[in-house]
Amino acid sequence: MVDSTKTHAVLLSSPGLGHLTPVLELGKRLRTLNFKVTIFVVSSPTSAAESQVIESFMSLNLCEVILLPSPDISHVVDPDATVVTRLAVLMRETRPAFSSAISALSFPPTVLIVDLFGTDNLEVADEFKIPKFVYIATHAWFLALTLYLPVLHERVKGEYVDEKNALFIPGCKPLLPEDVVDPMLRRSDQQYLEYLNIGIEIPMADGVLVNTWEDLEPATLAALRDCKLWGDISMVPIFPVGPMVTPPGPIDSNKTEVFDWLEKQPIESVLYVSFGSGGLLSNEQMIELAYGLELSQQRFIWVVRPPAEKKSSDGSFFTVGNSSNAKEGPASYLPEGFLDRTKNVGFTVWDWAPQVEILRHQSVGGFLSHCGWNSTLESITNGVPLIAWPLYAEQRMNAALLAEELKIAVRPKTLPWKGIVGREEIQMMVKTLMVDKEGHAMRGRVKELKSSGETAWNDNGSSTKALAQFMY
Ligand code: UDP
Repeated sequence: MVDSTKTHAVLLSSPGLGHLTPVLELGKRLRTLNFKVTIFVVSSPTSAAESQVIESFMSLNLCEVILLPSPDISHVVDPDATVVTRLAVLMRETRPAFSSAISALSFPPTVLIVDLFGTDNLEVADEFKIPKFVYIATHAWFLALTLYLPVLHERVKGEYVDEKNALFIPGCKPLLPEDVVDPMLRRSDQQYLEYLNIGIEIPMADGVLVNTWEDLEPATLAALRDCKLWGDISMVPIFPVGPMVTPPGPIDSNKTEVFDWLEKQPIESVLYVSFGSGGLLSNEQMIELAYGLELSQQRFIWVVRPPAEKKSSDGSFFTVGNSSNAKEGPASYLPEGFLDRTKNVGFTVWDWAPQVEILRHQSVGGFLSHCGWNSTLESITNGVPLIAWPLYAEQRMNAALLAEELKIAVRPKTLPWKGIVGREEIQMMVKTLMVDKEGHAMRGRVKELKSSGETAWNDNGSSTKALAQFMY
């Protein structure tokens, strides 16, 4: 236990629920070690889900939460800049306000922890002469790629996606060119330079906390600790402190319908379908998904949103909903008669569902997911295998990790970002996961991972120890 009168952790979260949630969870964990914790959140003013999460977190009274107003970046970024560019610039432009806000704290901080997009703020720790850490809210393989990017930048001459061979990352699973993270898709895009900059800045920290655990990625973590493998890159100490996931909350008494329905379904028989806080499908893809689910004849819960207006690989959490003239309710967007024909096996939820609580229900046996890392961890920690349907950010890497390394997911052969995944392929994947032997084997493996994730947080578990040790 640390002395809370002497140890004050200041955390900085970038906008987006996928970034905010793991930072809040880290704050909670640090509180259990008796740290005083202040969390600065650069909020996206448009996200109702984010505001709700912040509000309910604040009501716990565990940590102080201070909202930093989003700086105006319209003069520094193109209006059609990608989410990664906007996030990186937004966090950089926040630095003066962040520094002043820290100066105004009555209890000076003793350690600074920023998330992936906050690395430009590491210098603020130097102003206050305190140690500084980066919190990677995804996995160690992603961290390894990010750290190695400055070397790939020199070695690979053309576009990464045009490479004939998988990209080498020291000691780690090689990365297929088609699975690179969004910022690596086009090198001339500003988001590539922003991401490269993050890779250069991370080693300036005193250490990196990462939302994984020893038994999930043993080889990658060993590689990250083997300085000999990394040549000129100065490696920093790595602390795997995962899985950090939102614990299930109480069920909202106005929204029990989905749980009443789940109660009536057999154990592990329902496929939960959702694409995270910002994922949208094209209209054509939604129609194929609907027919694929119908053809599979399996039970499902589908969180339906209006389709994307244009093909985009970005999340949409910077916008409110999808379109000003979006119609309300699934019926407007699904094939005619679909809701009627599937009424005995399917349940649709409009726009947003209590995901963590659904995934933990015993009737849920599969998750068709966009593979955001929070959703991925929520699935693993509830012992639910996946259909990996990546859309944006680092999700193709996540899907590769789940399908090829951990073998707990089925993945479409058609790359969702390149073409439309057809109804027959969807039907086949659903059946493989929910009915076939292969799916049973995946369920067995994910349950083992669930249990190893729990062990990591035991009194003597690897993540408990890593979190207790990171500052010493
Ligand atoms: N989420 C939810 N209900 C929904 C959609 C998403 O509660 O209908 C939550 C989900 O449980 C997860 C987060 O939103 O904690 C999404 O984070 P993730 O990293 O999976 O994806 P992102 O939204 O960042 O792409």
